[in-house]
Amino acid sequence: MIVVERIAELRDRCETARRAGETVGLVPTMGFFHEGHRSLMRAARANHDFVVTTIFVNPLQFGENEDLAAYPRDLVADTAAAEADGVDVLFVPSVPEMYPEPTVTTVHVAGLTDGLCGASRPTHFDGVTTVVAKLFSIVGPSTSYFGRKDFQQLVVVRRMAADLDLPVQVVGCPLVREPDGVAMSSRNAYLSDDERGRATGIFASLRAAAAVVGDGERDPERVRAAVGTEAARHGLELEYAEVRRAADLAPLATVDGEVVVAVAAAVGKARLIDNVTMQIAGAEVSTDLGVIQIAEQESTS
Ligand code: AMP
Repeated sequence: MIVVERIAELRDRCETARRAGETVGLVPTMGFFHEGHRSLMRAARANHDFVVTTIFVNPLQFGENEDLAAYPRDLVADTAAAEADGVDVLFVPSVPEMYPEPTVTTVHVAGLTDGLCGASRPTHFDGVTTVVAKLFSIVGPSTSYFGRKDFQQLVVVRRMAADLDLPVQVVGCPLVREPDGVAMSSRNAYLSDDERGRATGIFASLRAAAAVVGDGERDPERVRAAVGTEAARHGLELEYAEVRRAADLAPLATVDGEVVVAVAAAVGKARLIDNVTMQIAGAEVSTDLGVIQIAEQESTS
């Protein structure tokens, strides 16, 4: 594995791979790897000749009072993990390398970015789509891998690629959870033991949503209420709990078809997000809560 800091070098290496007939898979990240990130790298490795992972804590996607400066970093551990997962190039640009001049050009995906996380983070998704568009342009991947944990991000990036005819397939990979159900996140590093315990209430609130829908509830407001009640039982105040159509995050009159229940909650200093998707056809409900990491695997990873 090669660690690259310069855009020109990354572009050259990807160009060389493509010229040799290799397919390029891309995994954009902000680093501080856990099994969620690693599952994306392994998916890319399984499907491509040439795998690029990027680590860039992108200032453009952080709001003024957010955790940009505190965001956890560990390049030594990340390098070892990426190498172990078969990454060919790890791209770790500096901020001036990515943004040598103040950014006056941004990519904005309208509508999809207004609600859910966009409501409290109004500039966040423009930062994400702008940096992802740059990475697509530099790397030229045939496929880019994103986690379903950041469900709105996945929908937004997919729509950007479609609207701009970017020649890249956007693949959503399963949400990976800790053995107790807490969604893996670099931001879990901010949690005290007590907060970490309360964070399990987020998963419990999503399971409550799945349970009421499984029992036949089709009113989005009642599903939201079930989520809120369970969260409160764990001492959590949710920033939002929304029931939306999974394909385009449209509000629903009835819980039917492919649906996402998405939540955000502040737990101590950490703002955590999570979701469950359900496929509903009549009385049939199939629920996707992601993948729970078994403890043994975790300790050997
Ligand atoms: P981040 O470093 O948080 O920007 O995340 C980089 C990529 O990893 C994004 O596509 C995330 O959706 C994905 N990711 C983060 N956490 C998880 C998780 N628990 N399960 C699956 N994918 C994840």
